Amino acid sequence: MIPAEFDYHAPTTLDEAVRLLAEAGDDAKVLAGGQSLIPVLRLRLAAPETVIDLGRVEELRGVRVEGDTLVLGAMTPHHDVATHPLVRQHARVLSAAAATVADPQVRHRGTVGGALAHADPAGDMPAPVLALGGELVVVGPGGRRTVPAADFFEDFFTTALGEDELLAEIRIPSHDGWGGHYEKFTRVAQQWSIVAAAATVRSEGGTIAEARVALTNMGLVPIRAHAVEQAMVGRPAEESAVAAAVARVADGTSPPTDANGDADYRRHLAAVLARRAVLAAAG
Ligand SMILES: Cc1cc2nc3c(=O)[nH]c(=O)nc-3n(C[C@H](O)[C@H](O)[C@H](O)COP(=O)(O)OP(=O)(O)OC[C@H]3O[C@@H](n4cnc5c(N)ncnc54)[C@H](O)[C@@H]3O)c2cc1C
Repeated sequence: MIPAEFDYHAPTTLDEAVRLLAEAGDDAKVLAGGQSLIPVLRLRLAAPETVIDLGRVEELRGVRVEGDTLVLGAMTPHHDVATHPLVRQHARVLSAAAATVADPQVRHRGTVGGALAHADPAGDMPAPVLALGGELVVVGPGGRRTVPAADFFEDFFTTALGEDELLAEIRIPSHDGWGGHYEKFTRVAQQWSIVAAAATVRSEGGTIAEARVALTNMGLVPIRAHAVEQAMVGRPAEESAVAAAVARVADGTSPPTDANGDADYRRHLAAVLARRAVLAAAG
C-alpha cells in the first residue's frame, strides 16, 4: 500500500530536528533507517502528518570512544555496529547482536537508535545495551537528559522517549577485555529472535570474575538476569558449572506464547541460550 500523505522534512542538524519535532506537535514521526517505520506507514498502521528524516544529520552518526565510554550515534547503521573495531573492542556482545539482525540490506539501512526507539520485544539491540549497562542520551526542547537502559524500555513498543524528544546517542561503559556473545534462536535464517541471550563476561584464569546477562523476547521489555550474574561469579567457565548457574534464568519472566513456541518452551530455551552465550563469552 501507499502511505497516507505527510509533510516531509530533512534537517541537517540535531537542533533543527528537535525544533521541527517540537513545531510539528504530537502528530509527527521521526524517520531513521525506515526498516520498521516505512512498513508501518505503508500498512497505514500510522498516518503521521509530518515525517522528520534524520538521514542527513551527520552528527547523529558514528562510533567514538570518550575516556572509558563507547559512544554510538543513534543513526549508526547495524552494519557499522557489527563491524566497527571499537565496538568489537569495547562492547563485543553488541557487535555480535548487530550481526544477527535480519540481512545485509536491512543492516545497512536500519540503525541502532531506530531499533532501540522502536523497542520491539523481539528486537536484538535492547538486551545487549541493557547487559552492558548502557545509557541513552535523549534530546528535546528542554535540553539533554540521560536515561539508563534499565529505565528506557517501559512497555511493549514503549520507551521513556517523550513525543518531542529524539534519541541522540548510546553511551556504553567500556567492556574492553571482556568476552561477549549473543546467542539467538530462530527457526529460519534472518528471523526475529524467538528468544535470545546476551552475555558479556570477564574471566580470570578460567574462572568467571564478572558476568552480565540479558534476555530478548522473554517479556514485553528486555530482561537483565541479575541473580544469574551473581551466581556465576567465582565459578569455573565450564559447562556444568555455568549450566547450574543459569538454570533459573527464566524465573520471574513472562514470555509470550505464539506460533513459534509457548511460554514454557521459551523458558527452556532461555536457560539453554544463556548457558551457550556465557560459555562463548568466557572463551
Ligand atoms: C525484513 C526485516 C527483518 C528484520 N529483522 C530484524 C531482526 O532480526 N532483529 C532486529 O532486531 N530487527 C530486525 N528488523 C528491524 C530493524 O532492526 C530495524 O532497523 C529497526 O527495528 C528500526 O530501525 P530503523 O533505523 O529502521 O528505524 P525506523 O524504522 O526509521 O524507526 C523505527 C521507530 O523508531 C523511531 N525512531 C527512529 N529513530 C529515532 C530516534 N533517533 N529518536 C527517536 N525516535 C526514533 C521512529 O519514529 C519509529 O517509530 C528487521 C526489519 C526488516 C525490514
